[in-house]
Parts: sequence; C-alpha cells; structure tokens
Amino acid sequence: MTHESTQAKVIQIWEVIELKSFDAVVIGAGIIGAAIAYFLSREGLKVLVLDRSTPASGTSGACDGVISLHSKTPGLKIDMAREGIHLYNQLSLHTDLDLEMDKKGSICLAETEEEVVFLKKRMESQKGYGLDVRLLDPEEIRSMEPLVSDQVIGASWCPEDTQINPIMATFAFLESARDKGCVLRKNAPVTSLLVHGTTLQGVMIGEEKISAEWTINACGAEAAYVSEMIGIAIPIQPRRGQLLVTEPVDPVISSILLEARYMAFKNNPALGRSSEDPALKAGISLSVEQTRSGSILIGGTREFAGYNRKTSYDAFHLMAERAIHFLPSLRELRIIRSFAGLRPYTPDGMPIIGPVEGIDGFLLAAGHEGDGIALAPSTGKMVSQMVCGKSADFPLELFSLSRFKSS
Ligand SMILES: Cc1cc2nc3c(=O)[nH]c(=O)nc-3n(C[C@H](O)[C@H](O)[C@H](O)COP(=O)(O)OP(=O)(O)OC[C@H]3O[C@@H](n4cnc5c(N)ncnc54)[C@H](O)[C@@H]3O)c2cc1C
Repeated sequence: MTHESTQAKVIQIWEVIELKSFDAVVIGAGIIGAAIAYFLSREGLKVLVLDRSTPASGTSGACDGVISLHSKTPGLKIDMAREGIHLYNQLSLHTDLDLEMDKKGSICLAETEEEVVFLKKRMESQKGYGLDVRLLDPEEIRSMEPLVSDQVIGASWCPEDTQINPIMATFAFLESARDKGCVLRKNAPVTSLLVHGTTLQGVMIGEEKISAEWTINACGAEAAYVSEMIGIAIPIQPRRGQLLVTEPVDPVISSILLEARYMAFKNNPALGRSSEDPALKAGISLSVEQTRSGSILIGGTREFAGYNRKTSYDAFHLMAERAIHFLPSLRELRIIRSFAGLRPYTPDGMPIIGPVEGIDGFLLAAGHEGDGIALAPSTGKMVSQMVCGKSADFPLELFSLSRFKSS
C-alpha cells in the first residue's frame, strides 16, 4: 500500500493560502490529524492543517489497515474501534474516494495447546465485553483459509474486524474537510509554537506566523518533538514496524490473519526484549492481509529502534520465514518491496488526547501505537467535542497527559 501510488489517484488537495488566522490549526496530516480536521470542519470551524511533508507521509502511509477489535483487550479501545467502523462508513458517504473497506473478519492462529488456552482465555473476557468471537477447529480454519498450514490446531475468529486502505482514508478525511472550508498546506513544518502567558496562540513555520484559538499536536511518533518546543514532555516514542509486500495475485486470503504471539507482543512490549532468539527480540509475529490490489502485506516487527524508518534484511528474512511457516504456499510469491513505519508508542498503550495542564488552547492527539487507523475517527470526534465544549463520547480523563505524572 504505497503512499506514492495512492496519492497519484487523488486529486490535488493542497492550496496556497493568504489567511493567517484560524479557529484551529492541526499539526500533522496523518490519519489522526485528518480525522480531527474532518470533525472540526463539520462543526463549522475555520481549520488549517499543516504537514511538514505530504498527507500520509508518516506512519499512516506505512502500515496495515485493520480496524481490529479482536486484538484489543476489553475496554475503551474496543468501543472506540467499533465506533470507528461506524464513522468510517459515514465518511464513505461523504467522499467519492474508495476507502476499500471490507468487513473480512480476522482469524488468530494457534499452533500449540498453550496458545489455544491463551486464546480461549482472551475470548472469554472479550465475549464478556460483548465482542463476537468464537473458537475455530482445524477443519473450520482450513475451510475458511485453505492456505493455512496443518500445524495450526485452533484459532479465534472475530467477524467484526474490518480492513480499510489507511492512505485513502486519510485523503478522504482531508478532502471532505476541504469541502467544508478546511485549508491544507504541505511542506509546512511547524518550527515553533507561539505562547503568550499561559495561552498558546498559534504556530510558526520558519518566519511565518499563523495564529489560532486552538492548536492541535497530531504529529504521531514525532509529537514529543513538537510539544518539547514549549517545554512540555510527553512520553511518546517510536516503535518501528516493518512489513513485506508481495506481488499482486488473485484473491487467496479472505480474512485478516494473525498469530497468537501477535496479541502477546502487542500488549506486552517487554516480551522478547531480553530473548536470544532474534525473531523474538525484534518482536516478530505474523500478520497477513491481502489488499484490493492483490498484494499480500506480511508483517511485522515491533522494535524500539529510535526514529529509524529503514527496513533490515534480518527482519525481512525472519518475517518471510514466519509467513511460510503458517502459510507454506506463500513461498511461491515474490516480495516486491518492504517498508517500515513508526508506531507512536505510550507506556500504557493508550493514546494521549486532550489539553495540556497550564497551557490554554493546546490539545494533544497522538500516541495511538498500533491502533491509530482503528481509533482515528473516534479521536477526531472527541477532539471536536472538546473544542466545541460538547459532552464527550468517552471518559476524557483516561486519555489525559496528566495520568503519567509521577505522584
Ligand atoms: C507496520 C505497522 C502496521 C500497523 N497496522 C495498523 C493496523 O492494522 N491498524 C491500526 O489501527 N493501526 C495500525 N498501525 C498504527 C497506525 O499506523 C498509527 O497509529 C497511525 O498511523 C498514527 O497516525 P498519526 O496521524 O498519529 O501519525 P502519522 O501518520 O505519523 O502522522 C503524523 C504527521 O505529522 C507530521 N509532522 C511531524 N512533525 C511535524 C512538524 N513539526 N510540522 C508539521 N508536520 C509534522 C508528519 O509529517 C506526519 O505526516 C500500524 C503501524 C505500523 C508501523
């Protein structure tokens, strides 16, 4: 799913502007900034979106596109992802772009008895939370996904999980926002924030000053740099994810496939860090989805490697091995490229959404780790509810920066 190829399909949405004053400036045109711009514009606000590069040039253009409920532990993130599916469906009514949304469902594969027990335990708590999940036996797995190896002895299945093209979704939010008057600027890196007393009054792009009543930091893995411009420390760090892309083929995989280890790595970053096994050390676990174009995306890694977006041959090799282990016939396919994105990781796995204590007019909306595509619509809606003084759909205190304050 390349940023370049998709962008070519999309009409030019960036405009040169003379305006220097807005109700809200959104820094970052990834999926989160785009969703925020969409909801704020629909509320009638005059919105400017700035990106130092182009839309979806960050992590939102270098990721899978699963709106997953299955991979989440019971709680807010399941509610937000479920609302996300609903809001993406609404977005698709406001755009001519094809979001490539498919409610394919996901299957999480287990190859040992321990993994089956692990999945069963997860499923019980998810069911208790109202999630539609159930256990598949080997025969059911093979009838749904004939490519899966005989070594897989059980799986959990969640029919609600939905695939989307994250790049098209980002563009659709932005286009739709533009239809409501939102202005978008690319190649516009915010270099400083304008503070007067305890109020943030806007941003600087080099020498150019832009004022706004609200400034929203939606810079994903780089959100900490932007907040640091006014001395605000936020605990977001990059967690690299590498993926492989195969040549396009006819549809051969109908659902989204994961392995039990994926769930474990996602929710426990310490797992594998001290292991001698290079695959565990790099947080490698299987995720597979076939895109509309026919390419199969094979993932992935979960690594703390600073801001390095390069891919490595070692990870390439280990991911391909893992994929062939679970889906032996993938061995026949050519890998046409690999890429890496930086998940914006927070220590408790929850995003940071909301105001910064002591600074008026500044909102944070970042730190969605491996869930940003799923959580973007509800994040955008929550931010617009905060800005417009409306009651929020979700308990705001659970997203606040102040939860990280040491007591
Ligand atoms: C391999 C991989 C697979 C993933 N799979 C999934 C998945 O299946 N489902 C899911 O829900 N999530 C998934 N994710 C996570 C998801 O991709 C991220 O959570 C999401 O893309 C983060 O979006 P964002 O808008 O916060 O950040 P970004 O997309 O990185 O956007 C931030 C933007 O800010 C801009 N910016 C930075 N600094 C400045 C500045 N100073 N001035 C102006 N602009 C600036 C950047 O150019 C960038 O465009 C995956 C991630 C990876 C890496």
